[in-house]
Amino acid sequence: MTTASLLDVAGLETHFPVRKGLLRRQVGSVRAVDGVSFSIAKGRTLGLVGESGCGKTTVGRSVLRLVEPTAGTVRFAGADVRGTHGAALRALRRRMQIVFQDPYGSLNPRMTIRAILEEGLVIHRLGTPPERLARMQAALERTGLTAAALERYPHEFSGGQRQRIAIARALVLEPDFLVLDEPVSALDVSIQAQVVNLLVELREQFGLTYLLISHDLSVVEHVSDEVAVMYLGRIVEHATADALYRTPLHPYTLALFSAVPRIDPADRRRRIVLTGDVPSPARPPAGCRFHPRCPLAETVCRSVDPPATVIDGHRVHCHVAARELDRGGSAAAAAARLAEMMAGDTPDRIGTGNSA
Ligand code: SF4
Repeated sequence: MTTASLLDVAGLETHFPVRKGLLRRQVGSVRAVDGVSFSIAKGRTLGLVGESGCGKTTVGRSVLRLVEPTAGTVRFAGADVRGTHGAALRALRRRMQIVFQDPYGSLNPRMTIRAILEEGLVIHRLGTPPERLARMQAALERTGLTAAALERYPHEFSGGQRQRIAIARALVLEPDFLVLDEPVSALDVSIQAQVVNLLVELREQFGLTYLLISHDLSVVEHVSDEVAVMYLGRIVEHATADALYRTPLHPYTLALFSAVPRIDPADRRRRIVLTGDVPSPARPPAGCRFHPRCPLAETVCRSVDPPATVIDGHRVHCHVAARELDRGGSAAAAAARLAEMMAGDTPDRIGTGNSA
């Protein structure tokens, strides 16, 4: 744990049992999250990206114990979240809130906005009724709505307004940390930017710390200080947003980035199309989990799980990236060589050959 970090996650695993037969015997487990570690400093944002099913949403929910982790440690402001129960856990949860992806499904259509916002205050026994009203009004105003919204129902609002209400519901508890689980992906493109900018403003205004879960690489780049890329339950690359977007080192990250549309006509990055399906997290491949789909896979990748290679705080789990970094030069030079290899036009690929 670093001294300035608010959240420290180490070796987090969340496995779900697979049961079969009349007696519902456990015959295996889905390794949704399988050894994830990261820290987030106070006031900073970590973006977690990856394809659907990579485990990023389960990481967010496991950190808050909305699903129970199987192993690992989660420390929030020094407190052991997994070892906390009862009133102490409730107190921690007030400080750790979540904004869900779907503003249509996450607000109870039978409750007024007042009831939705007040629910958390009542559960956490915060304030007198007049104080609660003042907090609810302030939270709505901070998210760009007015107190008139309190007596209305969710269906009376647009998608963007509902997501503002969902953010107000989290803010009313005065949290320190928010898990933002795909906070704009269900919204029209025209209002996504407004909600993203609101989240950035609130972070600056209240010193909030975010775990931003998203498959939208542009949103993540705009909001995040650091970015971690997940594949099949594990983080395969983690760096500052600037380093990750300028010098991606993992073949999976390169493939993800190549799919982002570019408006700069001079940027001729070639689209890398990954073949094959994502393997089942119930039966992850041996060695590097990405090897069945990796254009750079080698024999070693089938059997040896790549350890982390770190350069200037930029972590990558890849045998080939490690070798390219070993060749010397900067991370940028290694990233350029890897990009060429991924595009299939490298003249000097070294190593054991693409025999996987
Ligand atoms: Fe590809 Fe091998 Fe690197 Fe995995 S370790 S990403 S299979 S090159």
